[in-house]
Amino acid sequence: MLYTQEMIESIKALERTREKRIGEVFPPLPPSEKESLLKSFHPDYKPGMARPLRVGVNKGEMAVNEIADLLESYSFLNPEERLKEPDFRCDCLVIGGGGAGAMAALSFLESGGKDVILVTKLRLGDSNTIMAQGGIQAADKENDSPAIHYLDVMGGGGFKNIPELVKTLVLSGPKIISWLEERGMMFDKKEDGTMVTIHGGGTSRKRMHTAKDYTGMEIMRILKDEVWNKEIKVLEFLAAIELLSDEDGRCTGAVFINLETKEEVVIQSKVTILATGGAGRLHIQNFPTSNHYGATADGLVLANRIGAKIIFIDTIQYHPTGVAFPEQISGQLITEKVRGVGAQLVNRNGERFIYELETRDCVASAIIRECLEGRGVRTPSGNLGVWLDTPLIEMKGGPGTIERELPAMFRQFKRFGIDMRKEPILTYPTQHYQNGGVLINPDGETTVPNLLAAGEVTGGVHGRNRLMGNSLLDILVFGQRAGRKAAQIVFGLPHQNQSKTLTLNHLVKFHKELKELGIPPDRKSPLILPDYRREDRRGKLPWFEC
Ligand SMILES: Cc1cc2nc3c(=O)[nH]c(=O)nc-3n(C[C@H](O)[C@H](O)[C@H](O)COP(=O)(O)OP(=O)(O)OC[C@H]3O[C@@H](n4cnc5c(N)ncnc54)[C@H](O)[C@@H]3O)c2cc1C
Repeated sequence: MLYTQEMIESIKALERTREKRIGEVFPPLPPSEKESLLKSFHPDYKPGMARPLRVGVNKGEMAVNEIADLLESYSFLNPEERLKEPDFRCDCLVIGGGGAGAMAALSFLESGGKDVILVTKLRLGDSNTIMAQGGIQAADKENDSPAIHYLDVMGGGGFKNIPELVKTLVLSGPKIISWLEERGMMFDKKEDGTMVTIHGGGTSRKRMHTAKDYTGMEIMRILKDEVWNKEIKVLEFLAAIELLSDEDGRCTGAVFINLETKEEVVIQSKVTILATGGAGRLHIQNFPTSNHYGATADGLVLANRIGAKIIFIDTIQYHPTGVAFPEQISGQLITEKVRGVGAQLVNRNGERFIYELETRDCVASAIIRECLEGRGVRTPSGNLGVWLDTPLIEMKGGPGTIERELPAMFRQFKRFGIDMRKEPILTYPTQHYQNGGVLINPDGETTVPNLLAAGEVTGGVHGRNRLMGNSLLDILVFGQRAGRKAAQIVFGLPHQNQSKTLTLNHLVKFHKELKELGIPPDRKSPLILPDYRREDRRGKLPWFEC
């Protein structure tokens, strides 16, 4: 047991109330209380956390400050300089080697396309997808339907979601589960072979399909196997730093930087699919994050500069339960499934304070409220958190439930001497998901011709708050549709032949506007990787010094 004396005292308070709490039904919040909770404690509502963008096609759109700083930055490339000849040419260029990118590349081939290159900044699969734990939603049980799923998604998103995108998402759910199963995905199943489905926050039916607590790793295993089996050309350790356009403003490929050799690589394509994921590593408002190292909002930067419309980038999802202790793994995710299988949230006095399966924005706000109002538990370095009473899981589900349902989580805490079967674990919200992003239609098309997008880089599907399990579905549904549409663009429309010109024309006006605004020329983006060096050691990152 690693806990401090102060924590141990608080655990005793929690144990004293456990018996009473075990059968307690905690009422969901009425809408008016939800709103007041969000306005008072959710980080999105903190005054001054977002500002309107001042340049480019998204001028006037609200963006959180950390994203706005990146969007109001210069390219590493000078549009006046001549571009080198393309190193590669292809029909379809996919940027990003997570779930959305891999699915898009596969779907392009399955739709009759031939010449696809998938380029990614780390290795294929190094992504948020592989880290996903809790599950994937799909309405395929008798007591459920896509219509009910639709209502849950819209409600979770504050009814700000784009209805057409949500409709597409929920209608495609059951087919996506079959697609994965046909390719060998090891879903959790009952003895009779039917799939186990559980609740997630904000869901009115049990529709979360799981593979233990490593659902994303299992999905990415399937996708990677398929990518290798289909012999898709994959280029790794290449980070996209700019998109290319032709004289008509169509996207014609991208420029990359090779993170090993620092060389520039130019790829010309007829159609490009952006699947670069989210922005967790920006540590918005200094929150820790659950995201992988490559989640630095690069796709937003690229899309914005070429002129694609972006929406809802003033809202970020803080997952209610990141690790608060041990601090070596601060910010790492404690999946919602832990609450789904029975753990309760409890403050330092042993009191429950929120229905655990409220939507994420409400649960995160309630935890922040408890901590700000003096009912949080202090860690040795002065941070705060609340308890997740995990021993309840086995009291409700029987001995062995934790090792069976949450094996990765169990091992993660065991490594630090904490046995979550017997003692609670400490939690605090962590930056988890980029709710907004590049605007797409149901086929993944952005507002820039021949530029498509899929996955967490896009916005609109989840409105202002995503429900658990809907992102894994989103990346597969819209990755698949984007790949299919890309094939149609390449083959179906004869006039859309490969453009001869590769330019950085879109940068000319953008750079001019930045200059007029007085933005210093050394402010450049994308970030590519976060810089965790001490302030005094920071400087130009090595891959930009070429
Ligand atoms: C810990 C964790 C748990 C989660 N659990 C769940 C869950 O249970 N259910 C659920 O539905 N969702 C979950 N999510 C969310 C979900 O996993 C992600 O939103 C989703 O997988 C994103 O997929 P993606 O393909 O869009 O992005 P990613 O999977 O992040 O892939 C993006 C790829 O783009 C690459 N890239 C980025 N920038 C560049 C660049 N400049 N050039 C080239 N390549 C680039 C990255 O390296 C990466 O390979 C979880 C997320 C996390 C972090």
